[in-house]
Amino acid sequence: MSTIITIDGPAGSGKSTVSKQLAGKLGYTFLDTGAMYRAVTWAGMRSGVDLNDTAAMTEVINSSNLDFQNSGGETLVTCRGEDISDEIRSRDVTEKVNAVAANPQMRNILVKMQRDFAARHGSIVTEGRDQGTVVFPDAMFKFFLDATLEERSIRRYKEFKAKGIDYDLDEIKKSIEKRDNSDIKRSSGPLKPADDAVRIDTSEMSVKDVVGYILNHIKS
Ligand code: C5P
Repeated sequence: MSTIITIDGPAGSGKSTVSKQLAGKLGYTFLDTGAMYRAVTWAGMRSGVDLNDTAAMTEVINSSNLDFQNSGGETLVTCRGEDISDEIRSRDVTEKVNAVAANPQMRNILVKMQRDFAARHGSIVTEGRDQGTVVFPDAMFKFFLDATLEERSIRRYKEFKAKGIDYDLDEIKKSIEKRDNSDIKRSSGPLKPADDAVRIDTSEMSVKDVVGYILNHIKS
């Protein structure tokens, strides 16, 4: 029988790193649903359409042949065969992704993509904002990770620094806060813990601690 584990939470709460490691330890497939919202945004930008034009964006999705695969523990994202895994993480895409995330019709298409992915891959660890509430309400295990805005901003700052990108910490903080606000306030699939999710404040926990905590919970 397939098992679905959902990990939701705001930007910088540690979802991606934790979910990847958890999937690796359990031998499950990892699904990064943020990468799906980013890839659709990137494809719309590449096509030059208005990201708020639902009909045009639907056409972009239908013709882009977007594909998401696990490759060496990372998510390999392709658009018509072209590897766009790095491009979808750009500042430009991050700033524009809300146009897709806030559109209920776009969300319906992405929810279907996520359920199709689960149907194809069996047991999965899926991370995002609405995985435990909307996409997989019957998931066997649900977790919601959070951390202070300060801590989440510092984590992002360090991630960029490790890639040789020197962003201003305050700028990162403002960008995360803005994204949090839009994610929390949208009417469709807002960022919130499922009623039956286990909530974990990761502010003072290492990735290893969080993964260990989740594994213990699953096994108990
Ligand atoms: O997690 P990540 O930062 O890559 O997600 C990018 C954006 O996609 C988020 O800011 C959020 O607006 C949107 N998203 C969403 N629902 C998800 C995953 C991501 O709305 N399940």
